[in-house]
Amino acid sequence: MGTPDLRGSYGTFTFYSDDPMTPAGTVEGGQIIPVQVQHSQVKANLIGPDNTFRQGSPAATEPFTVSIDPLEAVAKVEVQDHKFILREGEWSDWISVQFQLIPFIGNVRGICRFYLKQTHPRFELYVSPINIDPADPALPLSTPKSYSRDLSEEAGEFYTQGISEDTKALSAGVLDDGQYLQQARTVLAEHRRIFDAEFPKFQRGMFFFYFSSLDLNAHMFWRLIDPKHPEYNTELASQYGSALPDFYHQIDEVLGQVLRKLDDHTTLLVLSDHGFAPYYRSFNLNTWLLNNGYIHLKPGGSDSNEAFANVDWSQTRAYGLGLNGLYLNLRGRERNGIVDPAQADTLLHEIKDKLLAIRDPQNNATAITRVDRAKDVYQGPYANKGPDLLVGYNRGYRAGWQTILGNFPADEFETNSNPWSGDHCMDYTLVPGVLLSNRKIAAATPALTDIAPTIFAQFGIQKPDGMMGSSVFSH
Ligand SMILES: [Zn+2]
Repeated sequence: MGTPDLRGSYGTFTFYSDDPMTPAGTVEGGQIIPVQVQHSQVKANLIGPDNTFRQGSPAATEPFTVSIDPLEAVAKVEVQDHKFILREGEWSDWISVQFQLIPFIGNVRGICRFYLKQTHPRFELYVSPINIDPADPALPLSTPKSYSRDLSEEAGEFYTQGISEDTKALSAGVLDDGQYLQQARTVLAEHRRIFDAEFPKFQRGMFFFYFSSLDLNAHMFWRLIDPKHPEYNTELASQYGSALPDFYHQIDEVLGQVLRKLDDHTTLLVLSDHGFAPYYRSFNLNTWLLNNGYIHLKPGGSDSNEAFANVDWSQTRAYGLGLNGLYLNLRGRERNGIVDPAQADTLLHEIKDKLLAIRDPQNNATAITRVDRAKDVYQGPYANKGPDLLVGYNRGYRAGWQTILGNFPADEFETNSNPWSGDHCMDYTLVPGVLLSNRKIAAATPALTDIAPTIFAQFGIQKPDGMMGSSVFSH
């Protein structure tokens, strides 16, 4: 999931527009670049990786030209030695682009896809994040390194960035639902092509395959299957409400393929590591901690977007970071820690009780249904590296987008208006995962921590010391 794009980010799309109403600059997961149409032509640059061989490490760029048909909704794109025609609403294939870092010596290759969103009256062009080319990877994508090349020769080019579905482009309004859906379907088509190339080769050992479609598309399309969602829209629901069930059908088809090929000696596990729930309302934990006196700000307030920019750590006892983490500002651990470790237990108890009592002023619902102490749920040598409290949100609630980054929105609760409308970063007992098998599962309540021991047991391997869980087939 963490595989970067060629720029080293989690995926940065670019959007070229001559619409003066489209604000230029950086959005989450993308960059919006203003362009001008002159004599029916647009000249712009693809943005590659930072060139550390040059002073100031500017991004390496490669020019491209779009020639727009003055009458028809069609354009010709020229980039390096590629020339291709796109109609409005059409995606290109993967286009391979070389970025020069040192002339003639240091080059890196990436691949991207162009989507011509609009030709007239405005010009709008989306270019996917530039992915590391599996055929010629600038950084190793596989072990052995040659495997990604072999795979691309067999199954064609494919997205290599960690989360390939461009949910950020949908959230930013750069792609609409239909356009995002085309892109998300392409991702699954690639996964299925790779699966179809690899699964027939499986004879013995273990075969693992991850399909990202159900997770990412449940995040994005929950609002179109749930009339109670604040972003539910009847028209969009009738148009795209079947998109999420369609992804389930496709995965079910893959399962059918697998079941037909299994023999009696082969164990099948179908695993989802979490379930799903609506995400109606955000809870801003840091705002709540601020309002309840656990965080103090320096004079000047909390305007900055930098994480914890104005926090006065000499008076701050607890802070939220990440989707479910709450940490004490502990003396001896945090650089400016003030909480005496001897008082930590009492303070955590107090915060936990208050969190569980919080009600959403909009409907009086419980926002947090479970709070776990790290010492009760974590074990092993890294147990003390995690948060001190794990905040388990009720179905419908999640930590807000800003609080998880260490910021302080004005309100403790906010309505979630992002297309990212379903989630699972909640009380884990309310979003259980799914485990299916072709063998009888003996465990009454199988857990994620049972999966590794289950796989070990299949191969007759003793599970290592300190590993939790046990085989789900012999509970
Ligand atoms: Zn997810």
